[in-house]
Formats: sequence, C-alpha cells, structure tokens
Amino acid sequence: MVLKRKVKVGDEVEAKCGKCKKVTFHTIESMDGDEILKVVCKVCGARHKYRPPKRSKDKKKAEKRMAKKMEENETRWKEFVLEKDGESLKQYDISGVYEEGDLIEHFKFGKGYVLEIMGNKMIVVFKDGERKLIFNVKK
Ligand SMILES: [Zn+2]
Repeated sequence: MVLKRKVKVGDEVEAKCGKCKKVTFHTIESMDGDEILKVVCKVCGARHKYRPPKRSKDKKKAEKRMAKKMEENETRWKEFVLEKDGESLKQYDISGVYEEGDLIEHFKFGKGYVLEIMGNKMIVVFKDGERKLIFNVKK
C-alpha cells in the first residue's frame, strides 16, 4: 500500500507548471482537505491550479503488478484445468446450472473453473482473469 504523504499550505510540492512547461517545485497556496488547489511556481512565480506531475514510475510499477497478477492467474487456471482434465466439460449457458468446482467452456472466454457461487452469480477463473457470470436464469 502506498501511503500518501500529508501536505499542508506552505509546503513544497512538485507540480506541472504551464509557464515553465515542465515539472517544477511549487509552494502550496490553498488546499481543500487533502486536495491541493492552488500553487505558486518557485521558478517563475506563476500562480495556478495544482497539476500533479506525471507518475511514470508508478505507472510502470502498476503495469508490472498487473502482469504478475495475470501470470499468477494463468498458473492457477492451468492447475484447475489440468486437475479437472478428463472430466466432463460443461458448456456455459445463462440458463444452465453449475456448482463450485465445475469446469466450464465459455463461447468467448474459453475454459473456466467455477471458483465460487453466490446465488445465481458465479466467479469463474478464466485464463485471462476472474469473471462474474450469471447462470440459472430462465430464458
Ligand atoms: Zn513556472
């Protein structure tokens, strides 16, 4: 979890300056709760709305996390599908009835494993991630 550093009026923050056309240090002039409203550029003195600098590093980290999650999901999916290999594969149909542990075949998402059932919704693990599907719906 990323903890946001608390800032207050008068603090220095990095922000995008329209005049300098780059990220510079700014002094916070006004805030609304935790949200920075106005800042003053320390380089050119321009007073403007706070524009947070682009977080390319965080973005990359998030992408990496996503990739890892996808990989973990695929590994889990493979385990489920292999474990169930040879058992009957149920075609997914909105009016069908399924149980936890069922291996289903979805017309669009492919093979999936029923992880959890909640009423007429089920969480199915597909190769590319978990999906919530409805079932047992009378047509
Ligand atoms: Zn500036």
